[in-house]
Amino acid sequence: LHWERQVRSSAASHHSAGLSVLVTGAAGFVGSHCSLALKKRGDGVVGLDNFNSYYDPSLKKARRSLLSSHSIFVIDGDLNDARLLCKLFDIVSFSHILHLAAQAGVRYAIENPASYVHSNIAGLVALLEAARSADPQPAIVWASSSSVYGLNEKVPFSESDRTDQPASLYAATKKAGEEITHTYNHIYGLSITGLRFFTVYGPWGRPDMAYFSFTKAILAGKPITIYRGKDRVDLARDFTYIDDIVRGCISSLDTAGKSTGSGGKKRGPAQYRIFNLGNTSPVTVPTLVSILERYLKVKAKKNVVEMPSNGDVPFTHANITLAKAELGYKPSTNLEAGLKKFVKWYLSYYAYSHRGGRRTHLASIGQGDG
Ligand code: NAD
Repeated sequence: LHWERQVRSSAASHHSAGLSVLVTGAAGFVGSHCSLALKKRGDGVVGLDNFNSYYDPSLKKARRSLLSSHSIFVIDGDLNDARLLCKLFDIVSFSHILHLAAQAGVRYAIENPASYVHSNIAGLVALLEAARSADPQPAIVWASSSSVYGLNEKVPFSESDRTDQPASLYAATKKAGEEITHTYNHIYGLSITGLRFFTVYGPWGRPDMAYFSFTKAILAGKPITIYRGKDRVDLARDFTYIDDIVRGCISSLDTAGKSTGSGGKKRGPAQYRIFNLGNTSPVTVPTLVSILERYLKVKAKKNVVEMPSNGDVPFTHANITLAKAELGYKPSTNLEAGLKKFVKWYLSYYAYSHRGGRRTHLASIGQGDG
């Protein structure tokens, strides 16, 4: 009962036109930012996250505390828990689902393939099943990935480009997710928007990503490994700042068409969309490192090695014409400005001071992995 009350009050929007959104992966990097931004607009938000230990769970708990201080309730549960989802959809008529829960990361798949199937395939299907049986059916916006372009060498990547050469199991599960959501769209009338994010970074980011792990290693005086592609070409990424991604997610929710089925019965065609959300200006990894060195005021110890064939692609670059036209998407933070904000957050979260080196952890937000 206590649980139900928390869910209901968290789901209630604060104005009549407000959305009521289930955010999966709400304790994650992108999910926590989106949840806060929606709540700040007055929308109702309920989070769901299984707090898995792919990376430092205390960072996820700290994000949850932040959300909780803004009256957002995050349920500790798994996408694959059909009873939980059924109960949740009984209690709340969600207008939208922002589905961001997933097993992320490219290299982790080599040792942990089952975890990708569990979250990105089985978990996705469990969520779609709950959504298609709900009455009314929510519209779904979900995170695919730029990784679906795989080994495609034509840049920049456009939504209509080939996606039949995934370079990792992660990419393959995202590609499969696009097929699965498309199927639920035409069979059951679910409104679907898939967003292909390009390397998202920023405050409260993911410790497994290069910009974050480099920062940690540089401050600790440890060497960092920089991969180089074939013919000594530097790897490059279309790094996209979190606030730009959040705006893209929110305008996707705002422009999502209604689902056309209810209680499992389809009544007409529903919207199906796919958009690139990138920054359109790729930066090489050595340039990323030099910006970090400048902000951290420490020289990195670099090991440059040839890229192993473990799932990384040599470069990414988004064409965002479609998202611009349909979503009004316009990224506004370049890598220099975005990393400055990330570094500022990192130093305060892990309580570093430039002069005295590391101080103590901030007790109120847990241990982190500083
Ligand atoms: P994240 O790992 O920080 O967040 C994902 C959250 O989902 C985590 O908190 C995790 O605990 C939760 N989760 C995983 N499996 C779950 C399950 N079965 N049930 C319930 N919760 C589960 O990752 P992120 O960077 O915030 O990514 C959000 C989404 O965007 C993911 O779908 C990811 O694949 C996609 N994406 C991210 C990037 C990026 O650069 N960050 C790029 C492309 C796509």
